[in-house]
Amino acid sequence: MSGPTHDAIVIGAGAAGLMAAITAGQRGLRVLVVDHANKVGKKILMSGGGRCNFTNTGTTPAHYLSANPHFCKSALARYTPWHFIELVERHRIAYHEKELGQLFCDDSSKQVVAMLLAECAAAGVEVRTHCSIERAEHLDDGRFRLHASQGRFVAPALVVASGGLSIPSMGASGFGYALARQFGHAVLPTRAGLVPLTLTGTHAERLQDLAGVSLRVEARCNGVRFRNFMLVTHRGISGPSILQISNFWQPGDDLRLDLLPGIDVEAQLREWQAGRRDAELKTLLAEVMPKRFAQRLCEHWIASKPMRQYTPRELQAICGQLQDWPLVASGTEGYRTAEVTLGGVETDGLSSATMMSRHVPGLYFVGEVVDVTGWLGGYNFQWAWASGHAAGSAMAA
Ligand SMILES: Cc1cc2nc3c(=O)[nH]c(=O)nc-3n(C[C@H](O)[C@H](O)[C@H](O)COP(=O)(O)OP(=O)(O)OC[C@H]3O[C@@H](n4cnc5c(N)ncnc54)[C@H](O)[C@@H]3O)c2cc1C
Repeated sequence: MSGPTHDAIVIGAGAAGLMAAITAGQRGLRVLVVDHANKVGKKILMSGGGRCNFTNTGTTPAHYLSANPHFCKSALARYTPWHFIELVERHRIAYHEKELGQLFCDDSSKQVVAMLLAECAAAGVEVRTHCSIERAEHLDDGRFRLHASQGRFVAPALVVASGGLSIPSMGASGFGYALARQFGHAVLPTRAGLVPLTLTGTHAERLQDLAGVSLRVEARCNGVRFRNFMLVTHRGISGPSILQISNFWQPGDDLRLDLLPGIDVEAQLREWQAGRRDAELKTLLAEVMPKRFAQRLCEHWIASKPMRQYTPRELQAICGQLQDWPLVASGTEGYRTAEVTLGGVETDGLSSATMMSRHVPGLYFVGEVVDVTGWLGGYNFQWAWASGHAAGSAMAA
């Protein structure tokens, strides 16, 4: 009554699932990967603006959020960015480094998917798309049986690599969490991460029509700070600094922006007061930030007048406003646009060396479905590769 028997079934043909399958396949296991989407690696394809920021050479465990910050260490240490770079180079995929160790394809993310599929083929891995899973069972003999739209599949190892909840239109589902609960695993509350923030009230009214304006800021929240660009959007704010800080922000948290990061604002204001006495503050600010943003700031938050008219106390207050601007975010754009999902399958229930369940032998969880979330910059793919590799290396042959 069952379909062909495999040594391992992987649910999810994304980064983590494909890497787990390739690694196990290379060790001689007969692996089947199933995915309900119409093609594999959809998030890889859309990542990095179509060029896939496939790793970060500066990856350390400190670049990840998890209820247990130690959990990711073992897998990351055993499959490093250099292992993946070796694979990319072997497939002659040209790449380049952007800022901060972020590696991107020169041409297209499609090359990364093609590389993974070529590795699957070489390792004898079977990949089935359009394959929806109705349910999973744990049989008395310890094997797992999947009831899927394309039949029933049985194997002694089951790898859950179904990702998080971000971008439902790309095939994201809560399936992995439901499966984890079915097998007695705790799932920590999830929320959208690496996501634009929304604004309401006066900030929204005053900034909305600046959509498209981008400026360098340092975003600060809960003791964490990120210096990079911020983009004003129609509904709020985005850009790398905001996406990064969104992982650390929750509704009600204090969010502050340094609008002139890297500039000694106090000295700059004094210099302007001494040397450009008749120039108005808004004109001078437009020399160090986008003109429209400077003007808007001076329309609503900072009274602009010729520099000679400011008292020392007023200059001090302006300095504070520019370097510690409080922005009241009302929420996030949610899973619709989030790059990742924070939270997920609790790591206490998993072995950090193998990703295998501590209660159900043969059951593995890898990639984003696990409560390990990286910063922006290639860290999430590195976790997917490393955790997938850990599981693929551990499955019994
Ligand atoms: C727009 C965008 C850009 C990104 N850019 C980057 C980047 O440049 N660098 C970086 O490091 N990270 C990036 N990320 C994050 C990165 O894509 C994810 O962290 C990574 O893809 C997670 O890999 P995964 O294999 O765990 O899950 P996924 O890649 O989400 O794969 C899960 C797979 O499981 C399948 N699936 C889900 N439910 C079921 C089910 N019930 N039955 C069968 N199959 C199922 C899905 O169809 C999917 O193919 C980006 C994310 C987004 C959304």
